[in-house]
Amino acid sequence: MRALTWQGPRNVEVTDVADPRLEADTDAIIAVTTTAICGSDLHLYELLGPFLAPGDVLGHEAMGIVQETGSAVSHIKPGDRVVIPFNISCGHCWMCDRGLFAQCETTQVREHGCGAALFGYTKLYGSVPGGQAELLRVPQAQFGPIKVPDGPPDEQFVYLSDVLPTAWQAVEYAAIPEGGSVAVFGLGPIGQMSARIAAHRGARVIGIDLEPERLEMAVRHGVEVVDARDQDDVPAVVRDMTAGRGTDSVIDAVGMEAHGSPGAEFLQKLVTALPDAVAEPMMTKAGVDRLTALYQCIDAVRRGGTISLSGVYAGTADPLPMLTMFDKGVRVSMGQAHVKHWTGDLLPLVVDESDPLGVRDLATHWLPLEQAPHGYDIFQRKVDGAVKVLLQPGK
Ligand code: NAD
Ligand code: ZN
Ligand code: ZN
Repeated sequence: MRALTWQGPRNVEVTDVADPRLEADTDAIIAVTTTAICGSDLHLYELLGPFLAPGDVLGHEAMGIVQETGSAVSHIKPGDRVVIPFNISCGHCWMCDRGLFAQCETTQVREHGCGAALFGYTKLYGSVPGGQAELLRVPQAQFGPIKVPDGPPDEQFVYLSDVLPTAWQAVEYAAIPEGGSVAVFGLGPIGQMSARIAAHRGARVIGIDLEPERLEMAVRHGVEVVDARDQDDVPAVVRDMTAGRGTDSVIDAVGMEAHGSPGAEFLQKLVTALPDAVAEPMMTKAGVDRLTALYQCIDAVRRGGTISLSGVYAGTADPLPMLTMFDKGVRVSMGQAHVKHWTGDLLPLVVDESDPLGVRDLATHWLPLEQAPHGYDIFQRKVDGAVKVLLQPGK
């Protein structure tokens, strides 16, 4: 089959790889119809190379048609249309019983001290071949796949794999008080959907980014925006908009590659250029993130407010302003989304004809799988209006 493979920093290629086959009675094979490129893939594209091997198949946002199921899989059958959650969880362990699917104890990658295995996401998360491919082997398929109805286009459902549950969890973790306000830093796909979900649930939403198309998209969905290109002090602007206090809650939808941290960016790029054997211990012992957005979140939240981090961070030695955080009395919640925990909240909203979350206004590019490298390039450089790129194997 054809699949998008990582070959080196900023170098991905569509190549021939072996077709996946059932390996356990809990596996399923799906023929992928739509698979998206995520901001998390960009971290692999540029920075996390030391944890990837050339030829690794990327991708963790996939949906398609079931081809084959193992004998222990009964809730789906060949021909069903399914969305695949990005975390691989068993549904019956101690963590899964508590809805903490991103920490599943059956698939936890203990060797690297990490949580549940993820599709297409480095050896830290189990080196499981990803979904930017014609076919995907789905482990723990007796639990994971979400059955969706035939009829509506894929873009209405594919975000159930990651974008929507991540954004929903970001809003839950933000604990916005009734009638309160939230600032969303970063208006990529995760920030867009976090902003829309918060507005849908009644909050006042202020969105911050530096990309004109992304700011415009947020405005279309009722978000007040701050263009970070025009401001030296974004948190001060947020305070000015909120009676001098800051917003009740803040969502960080930027993560470790924030714009505006030149020192850390230089260090990250330096480490990425080193041989894996040197780079890996450096990243696991003294890695630093670009923290501009997180610092601004800490500054913009009101005293006694809540910071919700959905942007991915991977530093092991990040300097944080503990004095400010403690003195302001902020709460911080973070982590990978527990995808299936939120499916019940989200499915009715995505099948609703009136499209209350605006899922039909997020994708900007639909490309055949063969053009995936171009998709990575425009999404990373934020050119050609790229906000969300969907790949369509078989087209
Ligand atoms: P993205 O890269 O498209 O979005 C990031 C946005 O942040 C961009 O629009 C960029 O212009 C903006 N930005 C950069 N620096 C900024 C700054 N200083 N201030 C304000 N905005 C700034 O990616 P995405 O797909 O929306 O993902 C966002 C983050 O969420 C990534 O870190 C990704 O890894 C993470 N993520 C986490 C989970 C989870 O389970 N927690 C799931 C999916 C994605
Ligand atoms: Zn994703
Ligand atoms: Zn489990």
